[in-house]
Amino acid sequence: MGFVDTKNKIQKIKYKQEQKNKLIREINPAFSSQRCFKCGHISKNNRKSQSDFTCENCKHTENADLNASDNLLDYDNWSLEQMTMIQNWNQNLCIEDVG
Ligand SMILES: [Zn+2]
Repeated sequence: MGFVDTKNKIQKIKYKQEQKNKLIREINPAFSSQRCFKCGHISKNNRKSQSDFTCENCKHTENADLNASDNLLDYDNWSLEQMTMIQNWNQNLCIEDVG
């Protein structure tokens, strides 16, 4: 009995994580537009205008849309810290407990 409960719990947690990842992937464009593709620095100050991106950390300059799409392609290489940041951001802003 106890074993089954534990198993169910683990499955539920796994399911929740998967849902979260899905949501994060859907929402991440908001962050991708603020993340420097070169050094990974995220700041809204990086986005100088609608079309211009200049990293305040490494001074990398690129078309903002190109930088954003590079970031999306590079999503698997985002650091754990950045993943956490996005997760927290989702929780705070728009994601309710999916369970
Ligand atoms: Zn940078």
